[in-house]
Amino acid sequence: MDFNENADLDPSRSTSGAGGGGGRIAVGGVGGLVLILVALFFGIDPANLLGNQAVDTTSTTTTGQNTLQKCTTVKDIETNPQCRFVAYQNSLDRYWGSVVQGYTPAEQFVMFSGQIQTGCGTATSAVGPFYCPADEKVYLDESFFTTLQQQFGATSTPAVEAYVMAHEYGHHVQNQIGVLGQVSKGGTGADSAAVRSELQADCFAGVWFANAAKDTKGPIARITEQDIRDARAAAQAIGDDKIQQNTTGRVDRESWTHGSSAQREKWLLQGYRSGDPNSCDTWSARTL
Ligand SMILES: [Zn+2]
Repeated sequence: MDFNENADLDPSRSTSGAGGGGGRIAVGGVGGLVLILVALFFGIDPANLLGNQAVDTTSTTTTGQNTLQKCTTVKDIETNPQCRFVAYQNSLDRYWGSVVQGYTPAEQFVMFSGQIQTGCGTATSAVGPFYCPADEKVYLDESFFTTLQQQFGATSTPAVEAYVMAHEYGHHVQNQIGVLGQVSKGGTGADSAAVRSELQADCFAGVWFANAAKDTKGPIARITEQDIRDARAAAQAIGDDKIQQNTTGRVDRESWTHGSSAQREKWLLQGYRSGDPNSCDTWSARTL
């Protein structure tokens, strides 16, 4: 992946240095909240959240420097590699803003460590990267890519980072176009709404890979075939069947929330090869 060295970055929707072990949890303020969130894997499991109380997201504890705020041009990636995430975020919002009528950007991309209060409850790094529809923010734990490499064997490259970001922004797109609510009907299994939603997010990620470098004023200059291979390998590494096989030694289709390795790779490629979000209709697809 090559970045466009002449591009500016807009860090206004990116935050880092949030989270921490303690901190104030302000309860209330968000009444009647439906507690769903959509993660990269492990599904929408409220048990992964520490608290079920609605939280006031303005109380997010800041423990470190918000270094992403200083990412104002692509050249800043040289001195602060985390600026890559601002580049992905900017590119994703630019692309989806150009194809989804009335699109509003995700409220914030939040890089945190430890645990964090979100509009969907208190989350820890154990949840993995996720999108919270209640506050329209994408959350990513700073240690995630190390985990991905060590536990899932997916080598961390910019393409893998971008795939994870693009998947989560895919959930934001679903939220914008009104299909994410389907997931709250609940249920797991190979044909569930959860799996269809996750595979669509993978497909949307593929669509972005196909289009990111066409935006000549955007921060992504080139996506290579190796990038696509990296992203495919990451999608394979986090399939439900593979994770189940590795953790329990058996595959249970009834508890799937994200789809198999083969399905995740298939839908990522579907999006990439078509370059068209309309090709990502996992909701009416007969075979996933
Ligand atoms: Zn997801």
